[in-house]
Order: sequence, then structure tokens, then C-alpha cells
Amino acid sequence: MANSGIRNGAGIRKQYMAVQKVKNASYKCPSCGSVSVKRVNTGIWKCTHCDKIYSGGAYIMSTPPGEISRKLIKEIEKKKINENK
Ligand SMILES: [Zn+2]
Repeated sequence: MANSGIRNGAGIRKQYMAVQKVKNASYKCPSCGSVSVKRVNTGIWKCTHCDKIYSGGAYIMSTPPGEISRKLIKEIEKKKINENK
């Protein structure tokens, strides 16, 4: 079947949406404890509460929810590699 990748494509889109959700979420600031850290640019995170700037992942900060999306991204990349074979 030539089009066996369609189902995988839908799964990736769903996971991509999950990553987008995590990317736009707020994270707890390690400095002031306020859940005000937002992604301002690729790998740059800023606390809107105390104005501290952190470097982190391109789409996620290193937090438990971040770990989940990191796993997701890894899985998406693995699927992409498999599809290119
Ligand atoms: Zn802060």
C-alpha cells in the first residue's frame, strides 16, 4: 500500500498540536516561584513576574510537562526518520 503513511500523518499532527500547547504554556519560575515563565524566542524563556531570562529548549522549558513534550518530539522525529526510509 503506497498510502500507508496517512494514518501516521494524522497521529503526528495530533502530537504536534500537543507540542504547540506545551510551547505556549506558562512555567514555574525557579527564581520567584510564580507560574509566569513564557517562551519569548527559540530557547529563550522569560519570567513576566520578576523579568528573569532563562535559556531552555526551543519549545519547552525543563519541567515535568516539558519532559513529556520532549519525549513527544523525540517520538515525532523517530517517526519522521522511519517515514523517510
Ligand atoms: Zn520569576
